[in-house]
Amino acid sequence: MVDETDLRHLRRSVELAAEALAAGDEPFGSLLVAADGTVLFEDYNHVSGGDGTQHPEFAIARWSTTRLSPAERAAATVYTSGEHCAMCSAAHGWAGLGRIVYASSSAQLASWLAGWGLPPAPVRALPVNEVVPGVEVDGPVDSLAEEVRALQAHFHDRD
Ligand code: ZN
Repeated sequence: MVDETDLRHLRRSVELAAEALAAGDEPFGSLLVAADGTVLFEDYNHVSGGDGTQHPEFAIARWSTTRLSPAERAAATVYTSGEHCAMCSAAHGWAGLGRIVYASSSAQLASWLAGWGLPPAPVRALPVNEVVPGVEVDGPVDSLAEEVRALQAHFHDRD
């Protein structure tokens, strides 16, 4: 169930993805929101420097472990333009973070890449709950997924 508050944060995640694209990185953006609605941390993808692990969801997991209590982490929500990859799902689970809401799914990204004749990512596109079964997950949101598809198309010169 995705409500208006969720949509507002999800729109911000897509804005962050656009900022990543403008900075020459892959268009993925994410933010961490506390139980009271406070935005705690935002980041976007930073893989262009050559480190393929510089995903925003991974940065959020690491940030949270030194700044939030276990209870605060469990009550926080991660909003992200693209569903967590397996690495980030694992980091999310090990950090004990709470709900995930995504604009577009890993399955959607995989199908877009395939449709554009591009090779699949080196890490298998698993749904978050395949990696972290206990986490509440909502998404995709069709209208925003379409925006993410356009950003990906731009990044891959397919528009
Ligand atoms: Zn990731």
